Amino acid sequence: ILNKLQNLLKDIDGKGYKAYKSIQGRYSFHRFELVIDYVQGDPFASPSKIRVIIPDAYKRMKPEWKTDKHRRLYVEDLITRKVEKAIEANKDQGKGSGKSGLIMIDSPGQEIIDRTAVTIQSDNITICMSVGLPANGRKINSREAAKMFFDAIPQILGNSIFQLDDEINDVITLADQHQVIRQKMKEKGWITFIADGSILPRKSGVSDEPLANAIRFQSPKENRVEISIPYRDQPLTGMAINQGITLIVGGGYHGKSTLLQAIERGVYPHIKGDGREYVLTDSDAVKVRAEDGRSVSGVNISPFINDLPHQQDTNLFSTENASGSTSQAANVMEALEASASSLLIDEDTSATNFMIRDSRMQQLVAKEKEPITPFIDKILQMKQELNVSTIMVMGGSGDYFDVADEVIMMDQYLPQQVTDKAKRIAQQTPNARQKDGEQSFGKIPKRCLLPNSLDIRHGKKTKVQAKGLHTIVMGRTEVSLHYIEQLIDPSQTRMIAEIIHYLAKKDTLSKTASFSELLDKLDYQIDQQGLHSFSPYPNQHPGELARPRRFEIAAALNRVRTAKIKD
Ligand code: ADP
Ligand code: MG
Repeated sequence: ILNKLQNLLKDIDGKGYKAYKSIQGRYSFHRFELVIDYVQGDPFASPSKIRVIIPDAYKRMKPEWKTDKHRRLYVEDLITRKVEKAIEANKDQGKGSGKSGLIMIDSPGQEIIDRTAVTIQSDNITICMSVGLPANGRKINSREAAKMFFDAIPQILGNSIFQLDDEINDVITLADQHQVIRQKMKEKGWITFIADGSILPRKSGVSDEPLANAIRFQSPKENRVEISIPYRDQPLTGMAINQGITLIVGGGYHGKSTLLQAIERGVYPHIKGDGREYVLTDSDAVKVRAEDGRSVSGVNISPFINDLPHQQDTNLFSTENASGSTSQAANVMEALEASASSLLIDEDTSATNFMIRDSRMQQLVAKEKEPITPFIDKILQMKQELNVSTIMVMGGSGDYFDVADEVIMMDQYLPQQVTDKAKRIAQQTPNARQKDGEQSFGKIPKRCLLPNSLDIRHGKKTKVQAKGLHTIVMGRTEVSLHYIEQLIDPSQTRMIAEIIHYLAKKDTLSKTASFSELLDKLDYQIDQQGLHSFSPYPNQHPGELARPRRFEIAAALNRVRTAKIKD
């Protein structure tokens, strides 16, 4: 018997491409339901959106894979990767003009992040894909379309979702282990844990895969901790970094930045085989760097910057084009406003005058002529008053020895504990520099985004669209996210674009919530209703979306050039 879809395809064969619109709808297949949600306008346009829905009866999903939220995320991630692999194996199927025969799923990188590609629900599994409906020129090619729907897709599913085996146990194992490590970190107050044997460096600047033949991480014995984790006879050993102020020092090219980057990425879990699967960082740790040229809207940067030329107000600082130091000050203040637990800073990407100001310079340039209170004079106040920790790469100045709780030296890619040595040096060579700045840290911004902050008008229409990882086109402006280093997946950027769109349309902003309350609300909605609840099509294919952290959402909102702020 012919499926309804086969009949429809027969009817439109050879017709103009627009006739494809008639196949939108839901169709029953042998082991799944196929829903064609959106049909592209022509063969070259962005591909059509389809969903495959597999009733549970066909999938023998064990209850424990579904009920535990944490495990479910890892299983969904695995299924996404399996489908992607099966698509890859099926590649040379379709032919024709434009995107004819193309089949895609949103493909994850090395990190395991909640995404809309695969969703396990209580009674089914939904897989969201995109397909290029086949054409010759601009005429419908039904034969190829039928091949795609009736051969290629069932085959892809047969080789992925219908063929899951031991791999599921592997990801469940990893999910459970990560859970236990995170619990232990919380108990002990560790910001980060890096297991012995981890591979931190990446293959290249453009590949996030592990570097071959890298020196594996080995904890210094003073910082070595043990964690007993499930499915493993021996406890996991590794280096834990405590709350407080930690310096990473060492010669150039000895692996300092590589260590910090691994810590930055540790806010997300990594897949087995990545080399960083047992590198975990407090998920509220935020990388902060200089970002000259960024726009700043009404941020109180006065803890760090005061008395700028031309009486610019630093209690409510705005600029279209920040300098290195003011941008870094704004980045710190915004991270604190969004409730960061720790800051991660690398000298390579910092403004020198934001980080240090030594005694000689203090003598030459009087305090009255220097608007900047350097980070070194605020770092202790941040720790003591705000309970915010710092992990910092600092190979160029020993001024931080006095304030550090812990000093780790990278030597030939291996860490050594040198805290005592650094403290002794600090004692024997007293620092002549004067402490700058106020007695206490100062006020954390608590701003509100005013209604119509998010101007998404584009002619008569509205527009918010992600362009790759780093850009969101919004109305007539662009939001640049090039220096948001913990934004790692273009699907996160798409999700942020959806959130901006949602906020702009819903006019949620009028209910004067502070920034951090707004972020709480967004987190809550994602937790309770899912990523798709922000999509204009929440009950269809919602688009390729992945979950950003609140800090990356905040980073985008903070870079909106049309934002209007009340403090
Ligand atoms: P630093 O910040 O101390 O100057 P980097 O972290 O930038 O040094 O590392 C310098 C180079 O060494 C990079 O190319 C990096 O990939 C490589 N590297 C870092 N760690 C290791 C390691 N454990 N094994 C092999 N190569 C490494
Ligand atoms: Mg470096």
